[in-house]
Amino acid sequence: MSRFQDQVVIVTGASRGIGRAIAEAFGREGARVACIATRRENALATAERIAGAIAYGCDVSNESSVQETFAQIESDLGVPQVLVNNAGITRDTLLMRMSLEDWDQVQAVNLRGAFLCSRAVTKSMMKARYGRMVNISSIVGQSGAAGQANYAASKAGVIGLTMALAKELGSRNITVNAVAPGFIETDMTSELSEEMRASVIAKAPIGRLGSGEDIAHGVTFLASREAGYITGQTLTIDGGLIL
Ligand code: NAP
Repeated sequence: MSRFQDQVVIVTGASRGIGRAIAEAFGREGARVACIATRRENALATAERIAGAIAYGCDVSNESSVQETFAQIESDLGVPQVLVNNAGITRDTLLMRMSLEDWDQVQAVNLRGAFLCSRAVTKSMMKARYGRMVNISSIVGQSGAAGQANYAASKAGVIGLTMALAKELGSRNITVNAVAPGFIETDMTSELSEEMRASVIAKAPIGRLGSGEDIAHGVTFLASREAGYITGQTLTIDGGLIL
C-alpha cells in the first residue's frame, strides 16, 4: 500500500523545480495532488504528468486568491491531509541597493504565502484531527547569505512560523515541519556562475548539487503517517554544505 493512497496533497509552486519533484513524488505514492502555480497553465505542465492531479492558478501572497483556490480544491478533491508550502522567489541584491519592493515582494510570497496557505487548511485539518504541513525554508534562513537579506529573513521567518504552528496545532494531531534545502539544480539556481557552482561542490561533503528528488524524499517522509511524532523541526537537506 502506498503511503499517500487517496490522500489529498496540496503543493504550492508546483510548476517546476523542487515543487514539481515534490508533486510527482506524492503522485507516485497514490496521492490526489493539487498543483498550484501563479497561473493555471504553468501548473498544468506538472499536473499532466501525475495521474488524477489538478492544476490551479493562485497567487499565494494574495488573501482572496488563496481563499478561493483552497475552497475550490476542497470542493474538487476533498479535505487535504498534506500541505507543502514550497512557492518562493528571490530578489537578490546587496542591502545598499535593495528597494522596499525587493524586500516586500519576497516576504509576501515566501512568508505571507506560507501563512495564508497554512491558515486556509487549518480549520479542515483540525476538524479531521489529522494534518501534515511541510514548509520549504532554506539553509540561507539558517546561516544567512550576502545579497539575500530579504530572502534570508523570509526563510528564517518560515522556520519561526513552523515552530509556532507546531505548538498551536499539535494537540489536533497536525504536525508542522520545515525542510531547508542547500543548492538544488532548478531555475532559481540556473544563473549561478561556474565558479560558484564549483565552490558549492567543493564545500559539500557529498560533492554535488542537490536535485528536486533529494528534497522530495525528505518532504514525503515528514508528510507521512510514520512521522507523526516529529513536529516543529527543520530538516536540512544540503549534502552537508553548512556543516
Ligand atoms: P523555482 O524553480 O523558481 O520555482 C518557483 C515556484 O514557485 C514556481 O512553481 C512558481 O510558479 C511558484 N511561485 C512563485 N511565486 C508564486 C506566487 N506568488 N504564487 C504561487 N506560486 C508562486 O524555485 P525552486 O528552486 O524550485 O524553489 C522552490 C522552493 O525551494 C522555494 O521556496 C525556494 O526558496 C526553496 N529553495 C530553493 C533552493 C534551490 O537551490 N533551488 C534552495 C533552498 C530553498 P510560476 O511557474 O507560476 O512562476
